Amino acid sequence: MALPVQPDTIPLVIVEGFFCSAGAFVWGNFHEHSNHACRAGRRRDRRVIFARVGPVSSLHDRACELYYSLVGGTVDYGDKHARLHGHKRFGRTHDRGLYPEWSKQRPLHFLGHSMGGPTILKLQWLLKTGFFGVEQCPNMVLSVNAISSPFRGTQLVYLLGEDAEDAPAVRRFSMGSVLAGCVHILAYLAPILPAGLDMHAHSRSLSFNESSFSVTLRQLWRSDWAETEDAAPFDVTFQAARRRESQLEGAVNPGTYYRSYVASMTEGCRRGSPYVPLRHLLTVPFLYLSSWAMNLCDRSLLGPLQQDTTGRVTDGLGQEGCVESMFTANDGVVPVFSQWHPFDCSETKCRHDAYPLDHSRRNADRPRGARETAPLHEDPENGVWHVYHIEAAHHVSLVPFWVGTSRQKAFWRDLGSWLCAIDAKRSVTQP
Ligand SMILES: [Zn+2]
Ligand SMILES: [Zn+2]
Repeated sequence: MALPVQPDTIPLVIVEGFFCSAGAFVWGNFHEHSNHACRAGRRRDRRVIFARVGPVSSLHDRACELYYSLVGGTVDYGDKHARLHGHKRFGRTHDRGLYPEWSKQRPLHFLGHSMGGPTILKLQWLLKTGFFGVEQCPNMVLSVNAISSPFRGTQLVYLLGEDAEDAPAVRRFSMGSVLAGCVHILAYLAPILPAGLDMHAHSRSLSFNESSFSVTLRQLWRSDWAETEDAAPFDVTFQAARRRESQLEGAVNPGTYYRSYVASMTEGCRRGSPYVPLRHLLTVPFLYLSSWAMNLCDRSLLGPLQQDTTGRVTDGLGQEGCVESMFTANDGVVPVFSQWHPFDCSETKCRHDAYPLDHSRRNADRPRGARETAPLHEDPENGVWHVYHIEAAHHVSLVPFWVGTSRQKAFWRDLGSWLCAIDAKRSVTQP
C-alpha cells in the first residue's frame, strides 16, 4: 500500500545573476535530481519559482523587485531611496504574485547564482529593518543557498571599466561603458522586446514611450544609471561591500540556514600567485582570460587580508601558504574569498569544507533504485554559513546552463536532500 504524500515541501525561489534572466529555459531539467530526496520521503515535488528581477539593477532595486514579484502589487523602492537616486518611487505592477502567501508561517527557500546571492541577503536585510512593514521578518527566508556569489565584491568590475579611484564613474570606451550603452538601447526598445531582454527600467522612464532618442544617445555617452551608486556594477565593488558590512548588513539570522558553494578555476601557487590551467582556454575561453586578468589585478584594491577566527590568513580550508592566492584565486568572475560569505571568518559564524561533489557524482549516475551512499543531512544547522569549496570549477560549472554533467546532477541531488532535511526539521519544531 502506498504511503500518504506529505504536503509540506517548501518552494525554492531562484534568483539569477548579473545580465541573466533566461529562467527555466537555460536552467533545464534539474528537477529529476533535486526531487530525489522528496520522492524518497514521500513528499511532494518541490515547486521552483524563478524570480523576476532586473538583470542590471542595484541590489536594493533587485531586492524590492524580488519581494513584490513574490507577494504581488506595485514595486515600491521606497520614497527616501527614490529621492536619493533620482528615479520614480514605483515600478511595475504584478497583478498576482508568484507566492502571495509568503509569510513567517509560510517561508521560502532561496537559491542565488552570482549576484543572486547578495540580492537574497539584501532582501533579508530589508525584511529585518522593516522596509516592507513591521509584520515582515527575516525568518521568511528559511534558507539561503548561494553559488559563486560576490558577497564582498570582485576585481572584475574594475577590469571591465569601473573607475577604482572614482567609482561609480565608468572609464570611457571600456567594456563597462559598452555594456551600459547596450542596456540603454534595450531599455529604450523595451516595449517591443521579449521578456528575456527586460531590463526592469519602469522607474527610470527610458523606453521610447517615455523618452526621446536624443536623450538615449546622451545616455550612451554618460549613463545616468550605470554611473551611479544605484546600479549593479557599483554594488559589486569592494567599496560598496565594505559599506554594507560597516552597517552589519549580511549578518546571519539565527532562524535561517545558509550555504555557499565556492568555485575556483585557479590552482596551486606559482611564483607567489595561483595559475589558471590551460585546459580552461579550450572549454571556457572568456572565463580563462578573465580569470587570468583577475590574477594579475592590483592587490591594493582588495583591502585587508581575510583572516580566520584565530587571526591566521588561510584559504578557507585552513591551509596557509600562498598568501597572494587568498586574493586572486577565482572562478573567472568572483574571487574565492568573496564567495564565502559577508565579513571575515572571524566576524561571522561559518564552517568551511571541501564539497564532496566528485564523491557523490558517482551516486548521481547510479541506476534508479541502486543503494545511496552519499551522506544525508540529518540535522541541518541554522544561523551558520556552511561554505563548500569546489575544486576545478568555474563560474557557470553548476548553474545556470544545464548540460547534464555528473557534477550538476550530484549538486542538485545534494541540494534537494539538504532542503528536504530543513523541511523535515521545521515540521518537527513548528508543527
Ligand atoms: Zn533604485
Ligand atoms: Zn568563513
